[in-house]
Amino acid sequence: MKYYSTNKKSEDLSFKEAVIRGLAPDNGLYFPERIEKLPEGLIGSGKSIEELGFEVAKRFVDGEIPDADLERIVSETVNFPLPIVEVEKDVFSLELWHGPTCAFKDVGGRFLARCLSHFIQSGGEKVTILVATSGDTGSAVAAGFLGIEGIDVVILYPKGKVSKIQEQQLTTMGQNITTLEVDGTFDDCQAMVKAAFNDSELRSKMNLSSANSINVARFLPQSFYYFGSYEQLEDKKKPVVYSCPSGNYGNLTAGLFAQKMGLPIAKFIAASNANDIVPKYLETGIYSPKPSVATISNAMDVGDPSNFARILEIHNGDWDAVKASIVGYSYSDAQTKVGMKDVITRTGYLMEPHGVIGYMALKEYQKQHDVQGIVLETAHPAKFGDVVEPVIGQKIEVPERLQEFMRRKKVATLINSDFKELKDYLLSK
Ligand SMILES: *Cc1c(COP(=O)(O)O)cnc(C)c1O
Repeated sequence: MKYYSTNKKSEDLSFKEAVIRGLAPDNGLYFPERIEKLPEGLIGSGKSIEELGFEVAKRFVDGEIPDADLERIVSETVNFPLPIVEVEKDVFSLELWHGPTCAFKDVGGRFLARCLSHFIQSGGEKVTILVATSGDTGSAVAAGFLGIEGIDVVILYPKGKVSKIQEQQLTTMGQNITTLEVDGTFDDCQAMVKAAFNDSELRSKMNLSSANSINVARFLPQSFYYFGSYEQLEDKKKPVVYSCPSGNYGNLTAGLFAQKMGLPIAKFIAASNANDIVPKYLETGIYSPKPSVATISNAMDVGDPSNFARILEIHNGDWDAVKASIVGYSYSDAQTKVGMKDVITRTGYLMEPHGVIGYMALKEYQKQHDVQGIVLETAHPAKFGDVVEPVIGQKIEVPERLQEFMRRKKVATLINSDFKELKDYLLSK
């Protein structure tokens, strides 16, 4: 299987090469030349997420990792529960936060880390993973790579724009993980990482790879839980929609892949905060990236979503086709707070600021459409305790694996949002 760049100005690569490379030299994202359907009868037959995930992964890895290793990688990737919980009639929350860092990014982080370490062990090169994070990616990726020989991880996060728990997770892992606190926005961090990839001096001196959802091994495994959650639905007759609280749109893109592989998804809902670039595109046909604005759903504060290129590619760049598969809604911080209070008051179910945006968008869509919907609940509410607790007027119990991070000492290097500072740091390492 070849992977081509969405900008179509770079050479095609194998899966292994695309995973190691991350971003294509022409700044495009790698995209598989085919998306195969799963065999008839597999979907809806009650298979486990491990089995389905393996079937999915096999079609993208295409022999570049031996089946037995790939099977192990997939089962280690999803070795925590990924349940759907009924919030009310026809509304399910897919709880993606039962992993080590309490956010869905554990899934992509674990798969990527295991694929890369497989390739590196068989190749002997040293690799530095650069990861820009708006909050959850960095820690999920770092946790996936912690202690893995031959891999250094450098995290960049925007100073003052992540929650306290997120910051503790990002800055306290130690070992092969180092953290840069960037005086800027997430978009600055992302731009610095991109610049590093395009810098020929850096590229000649070190093996850089990316762990953002631009990496194929980050977003592809996220399709596993679309298959896994569908199996959990009792009613397979009523149309199913997925509502994705979105930032870089890796999650939604993984859903589109699952749909292409045969999963019967009637519609995707792109749920955003004030950073409403994609809902605006759906409305107008014009994609106009903007600097991101800070919100209480900070992991979605993205002004130029990287996976938009893949969304376009899968629809052959056709706005009408995109509109036919995705509908968009966006919500302000004030609406988000009202939403959280409303859900817990009416149903007793607690949603955090990202998931609740997905919830509100689904409810809006259901006003016009008789469908059942699965909302991706992307993180544990305790990760956003500062925001959630005052709104719901009660304390949230913090899972032990998060409390552990709070007890450790922060270690981070503060730099300006200037590529040269990142470059000097990397060259001095
Ligand atoms: C990363 C993240 C998102 C956004 O996901 P994308 O795949 O980038 O669209 C939403 N919620 C939480 C909690 C996140 O960490």
